[in-house]
Amino acid sequence: MGDRPGPRMAGSAGPADGDAVRVALDSLASLGDQVIAGGDLGSMTTYRVGGQAALLVTARSEADLTLVAAASDTSRLPVLTVGRGSNLLVADAGFVGIAVVLDPVGFGAVSIAGHAVQAGGAVALPALARQTVDAGLTGLEWAVGVPGSVGGGVRMNAGGHGSDIAHNLRSCRVVDLGAGRGEARSMVLADLHYGYRTSAIGPSHVVIEAEFGLAGGDRAVGRDTIRHIVRWRREHQPGGQNAGSVFTNPPGEPPANSAGWLIETAGCKGRRWGSAMVSPKHANFIQADSGGSADDVRVLMEWVRAEVARVHGVDLRTEVRLIGFPDQPSTSSRGL
Ligand SMILES: Cc1cc2nc3c(=O)[nH]c(=O)nc-3n(C[C@H](O)[C@H](O)[C@H](O)COP(=O)(O)OP(=O)(O)OC[C@H]3O[C@@H](n4cnc5c(N)ncnc54)[C@H](O)[C@@H]3O)c2cc1C
Repeated sequence: MGDRPGPRMAGSAGPADGDAVRVALDSLASLGDQVIAGGDLGSMTTYRVGGQAALLVTARSEADLTLVAAASDTSRLPVLTVGRGSNLLVADAGFVGIAVVLDPVGFGAVSIAGHAVQAGGAVALPALARQTVDAGLTGLEWAVGVPGSVGGGVRMNAGGHGSDIAHNLRSCRVVDLGAGRGEARSMVLADLHYGYRTSAIGPSHVVIEAEFGLAGGDRAVGRDTIRHIVRWRREHQPGGQNAGSVFTNPPGEPPANSAGWLIETAGCKGRRWGSAMVSPKHANFIQADSGGSADDVRVLMEWVRAEVARVHGVDLRTEVRLIGFPDQPSTSSRGL
């Protein structure tokens, strides 16, 4: 390892994890300063709370991802792909594994040929929305309101304003970091088994590129739609440190098919736990205070879920991906 500094352990990592981290660091040595031991993962999320990753790797090429796959294989450390962190809550104790971020230099290209749009996994969805409208295309305007990446959006089947990724995607290229070899393969729409905010993309998959099939559109109309969506978001959603909707909307009839309505009518709006608060503007958002705690956010999430189950008999499903939390926190013992 030469003079590389020893790993700073993230959160609850014990000695066995320390050995695994050293094995992975050795395996990733050729990536130099693209690897950070104890990299600050929480601050890469839109919640801007939470702990470190045992290893934080910036991948600039498919070859880098192949190295990460081998490092995960030899060290047995889990991997996590981090996009723009707009749907992640990382525990204060951190993530004992290898967090991978796609560098825009290698994965940030957009090319448009006719109605076909190819975008790298690191491309920001709002930028792609504007770019496709400027190119005279229609179909991705909704994505201007989703502050994620193409890769995160493809995994989550991000959507809004009556559309989603599944409406627009033709295929994507995916590297499986869990299979040891880290080779890229194509997946077409049918392979992805899209549902509401779900897909067949697994935790060890990295989406490195996506191809969208759009329709010809009118630039002026598209720009107007984008302006309308941006204004609507400003009026209806809070700014600050959050990850958008905490829970998915449950099936059912209006208004009970709205997680926000269920949470508000269960009396949770504006409630606070430590450094976390249910947004007074939109009950399905939880805000974190600056310098706050991810564990507070998690406790509040579970309390909200329990209150909605108690009042409405509905079991809400968490949309936000929880990273590094050992188990369910107990809210009752903390008196909320
Ligand atoms: C203010 C606000 C508003 C939002 N509004 C919406 C909305 O209207 N609709 C909506 O659907 N979402 C919304 N979100 C949530 C979020 O923006 C989306 O889920 C988005 O798709 C997440 O993308 P990301 O790049 O930030 O992914 P991350 O948050 O970084 O990761 C989310 C998941 O995707 C995985 N992932 C990330 N990158 C990749 C990749 N390259 N390959 C494979 N897996 C990957 C992660 O491992 C994780 O499981 C909102 C969030 C905020 C903060």
